[in-house]
Amino acid sequence: MRIAVIGGGVVGVCTAYYLAEAGHDVVVIERYGNVAQEASFGNLDLMGPAALNPWSMPGTAGRLLRMLFRPESPMAFSSKFEPAMWGWLRRLLAESAAPRFLQNQQRLHRLASYSREMMDGLAHRPGMDFEQRSGVLLVFRTDKEAAQARPLLDALAESGTQCELLEPAAARLLEPALSEHTYFHSALYLPHDQAGNCPLFVRQLKKRAQEMGVEFRFNSAVDSIQSEAGQVTVRIDGQSFDTDAVVVAAGAGSARLLRDVGISLPTYPVKVYSASVAIQDFELAPQLALFDDTYRVALTRLGKRLRISGCAELGSSNVKLHQKAANTLVKVGDDWFPNAANYRTATFWCGPTGMLPEGVPLLGATRYGNVFVNAGHGAGAWALAAGSGKLIADLISGRPPDIDIDGLSLNRYADQTY
Ligand SMILES: Cc1cc2nc3c(=O)[nH]c(=O)nc-3n(C[C@H](O)[C@H](O)[C@H](O)COP(=O)(O)OP(=O)(O)OC[C@H]3O[C@@H](n4cnc5c(N)ncnc54)[C@H](O)[C@@H]3O)c2cc1C
Repeated sequence: MRIAVIGGGVVGVCTAYYLAEAGHDVVVIERYGNVAQEASFGNLDLMGPAALNPWSMPGTAGRLLRMLFRPESPMAFSSKFEPAMWGWLRRLLAESAAPRFLQNQQRLHRLASYSREMMDGLAHRPGMDFEQRSGVLLVFRTDKEAAQARPLLDALAESGTQCELLEPAAARLLEPALSEHTYFHSALYLPHDQAGNCPLFVRQLKKRAQEMGVEFRFNSAVDSIQSEAGQVTVRIDGQSFDTDAVVVAAGAGSARLLRDVGISLPTYPVKVYSASVAIQDFELAPQLALFDDTYRVALTRLGKRLRISGCAELGSSNVKLHQKAANTLVKVGDDWFPNAANYRTATFWCGPTGMLPEGVPLLGATRYGNVFVNAGHGAGAWALAAGSGKLIADLISGRPPDIDIDGLSLNRYADQTY
């Protein structure tokens, strides 16, 4: 089959790779000049379950909202008066109710375990070396935050993920570079969780996909898609392109494209931030990746640089840097590894993503048999991308997926019209 994948982020490129492996004729359509130019460029670089720590964890959304007016905050609003934003936040709070959260976590961890298996396979392919490191510390500054993370710990235990809750002294033995001046209550150590360079991974996988015959059409923005009589027509810059099937893996752009075919995704635009800075003192730089639960910011060592990512600006998809977000990233660097780098010299980046309130991606067929969706990966795209791509490739190829996709498809909104 001739299949178009819209979006050259981590999700689209993984999908294209598995479709080519299944023998399809694949073209990836991307509006920028290369892959991984949007959310896949600026994400937290965590590939494992530590990335599956959604805003819908009970108590988290309320805590983030209470921090809104601090000079450093994990969250910012582009406008306080937008009804769509308050509607989305209401849905987020509804998803934070304990039974809903548990159900969403079970769905996420089912996909994440499978995705990890797929990712292990990809990482061992020749030519794949993307600055991976094992070991993540999820740090709780206060006892309240540690208590709020209980459902996450339960979900990790249930999915068989190895992890250990450590007192500060034990955490400092594992990561001696942690500043002694920053107080924290405890840290969750995930020894097998990995961090790495997500954009580098995507570029390397693109190369593998090209070797398998995948075509990449860059600088091609899809205006619309249309499905009729077993054919999909993709309109690119005013020109039409026919294909047997299309996979919408366009990150923040997915909702708009799907709206054209009458499918409405409850995503909300969120702008995310990252900072990259050269390491000045390698002895005082971290060996493990660190996730600061208070500010929801991750700090990862990538070769000779540190990458600090996080902070979410709700309702914004432009690329204007919000100073408060930059302050938060600098504060997190200064708090944990003050002498590893001069964070004031960091290069900042921001870009759009689309978040679903439940934080569980949507995969699979739409009511049009030849339009597929692979979107809404929220804060865990890299941790979920390989598994999501393989599932879509199996569904399109008419093979039974390796895991149950219950709760991952559009059927979960069955009470709405799709
Ligand atoms: C604060 C935050 C931290 C995160 N940290 C992590 C993390 O640690 N680990 C993790 O796994 N995930 C993380 N994520 C999630 C992750 O960054 C994103 O969800 C992920 O990169 C999305 O991948 P994607 O391929 O779906 O989207 P993108 O990387 O955004 O790719 C979509 C592509 O589609 C293209 N596109 C869009 N519309 C069109 C169109 N009309 N025509 C042609 N091309 C189009 C875009 O140009 C873009 O290149 C984080 C997200 C947030 C919000």
